[in-house]
Amino acid sequence: MTKNYLITGAAGFIGSHFAIKIFNLGHRVIVLDALTYAANIDNLKEIQNSPSFKLIEGNICDSELVTKILCEEKIDFVVNFAAESHVDNSIKAPETFIQTNIVGTFNLLNCSLNYWKNLEAEKKSAFRFLHVSTDEVFGSLEKNDPKFNEENPYRPNSPYSASKAASDHLVRAWFETYKLPTIITNCSNNFGPHQHQEKLIPTIISSALNGKIIPIYGTGENIRDWIFVKDHADGIYLAINSGKAGQTYCFGGDAEKTNLQIVHKICEILDGLKPKSDGTSYAKQITFVEDRLGHDKRYAVSNDKVERELGYKVSKDFEERLKEVVIWFSAKI
Ligand code: NAD
Repeated sequence: MTKNYLITGAAGFIGSHFAIKIFNLGHRVIVLDALTYAANIDNLKEIQNSPSFKLIEGNICDSELVTKILCEEKIDFVVNFAAESHVDNSIKAPETFIQTNIVGTFNLLNCSLNYWKNLEAEKKSAFRFLHVSTDEVFGSLEKNDPKFNEENPYRPNSPYSASKAASDHLVRAWFETYKLPTIITNCSNNFGPHQHQEKLIPTIISSALNGKIIPIYGTGENIRDWIFVKDHADGIYLAINSGKAGQTYCFGGDAEKTNLQIVHKICEILDGLKPKSDGTSYAKQITFVEDRLGHDKRYAVSNDKVERELGYKVSKDFEERLKEVVIWFSAKI
């Protein structure tokens, strides 16, 4: 049966993949996006001319607008991707992170609660508010610590992760206090097509191909777990449809790598794909730069719960996916 999805922040990276997936499954997609510097409406071009798709330019902090959309579009599911998402920006200028990530989430919850309270019984029990969050809310792991899972205490370290942690707590409270059927997902670092240039993998590829230095923070030993963005979109869909209200689900990519491993792997792929005329490797452009303030050492996420309860599976080996992604970005340069 066709459902009406309100997807916030879907002109960005992950939300655009989720919106396309939902659209291709035959559902109606209503996007609310403030079209900040991080948005790219071309991400949605394959669906933007359909009557089952609507893009509304606006802010998740605007309660009148959010209420109007919920009521007029008869929304069945709210999926919140809208956020300020870059850690470096949060260190330089945290204000917008507080506004969008915390106040914006509060506003979406409040409007959703007022809308949900008045729904007829069947629609009311099927309604879900899914909030997309990050593994960074759990803090940083040491090399031999077990991976993060849904039971980890919150220990955010950056202004970004603190703002996401605050929003997660609000979502949890709206379930515990008002019984609004919410779900929280916490995922590891995403990679794939449509990712903004400011993030690690696109930066490495474009710096390499443009003959610039490839900047790596500190010693490059920080470890991240990498999830392919379409696997993440599949996981969110599973969480909405098979997950339980009030629950948290963690999604990872089973691919822990140091930043140095990532950069060398990308250089190796590019050396094969677009060999340099002087015969040297792109790896010669790697340059270590001053470390990020408070740089978390390691993130890694256990998929145990989502494999067991939702049937989630990483679709392909990380290296195969990375090669596809490098080819996709290289074609744009
Ligand atoms: P992104 O920065 O690519 O996109 C964010 C989108 O939100 C943009 O289109 C932007 O215009 C929109 N937006 C920003 N402020 C808004 C506001 N006030 N009102 C309406 N729209 C607004 O982000 P992303 O990488 O796709 O991340 C999506 C979500 O996933 C975020 O909540 C982020 O915290 C979370 N997340 C991302 C990653 C990752 O690796 N990218 C990892 C873990 C969690």
